[in-house]
Amino acid sequence: MNISGYIKESIVDGQGLRAVVFFSGCYHNCFGCHSPQTHDKNYGEEFTESKQQEIIEDIKSNPLLSGLTLSGGDCFFSAKEVIKFVIKLKNEIPDINIWVYTGFTIEQLMGKKDNKYKLLEMCDVLVDGKFEIGLRDTTIKFAGSRNQRILDVKESLECGKAILLSLDK
Ligand code: SF4
Repeated sequence: MNISGYIKESIVDGQGLRAVVFFSGCYHNCFGCHSPQTHDKNYGEEFTESKQQEIIEDIKSNPLLSGLTLSGGDCFFSAKEVIKFVIKLKNEIPDINIWVYTGFTIEQLMGKKDNKYKLLEMCDVLVDGKFEIGLRDTTIKFAGSRNQRILDVKESLECGKAILLSLDK
């Protein structure tokens, strides 16, 4: 599995100050995608054990962080491998807050109890849906187009339907 980038601190990829890992590989082909280079799963650098550990250590040593964001690409296409990284991360930082960006809808991810579902279960917040250029809106916080939703994963899984996150929390 490759990553196309890693940012130690971001304020635009979810609530608060967050570390962000951009995974390579995406097959949604949204027209107007902001990062087409990340569609190729071989783009970027290999997400080695040492790179993973480096990121975990960075997060552990930064008390200002609110959590980690999994972005891309779309990490749900590499769910099996991403799960292994998240398990490692949670072993060291059990209460870490995880946001994840995807072109899938939560209904698609909840449909089958597969690796995508398992990865979803490990995250706190899902920003879902393909980027729709006709619905592009630069005024929305943490999303690119109006169809995309910022969802509370635990509540959504409990209720069996999409539950929006209250950003005041
Ligand atoms: S899901 Fe994201 S990375 Fe993938 S094509 Fe759509 S906008 Fe681009």
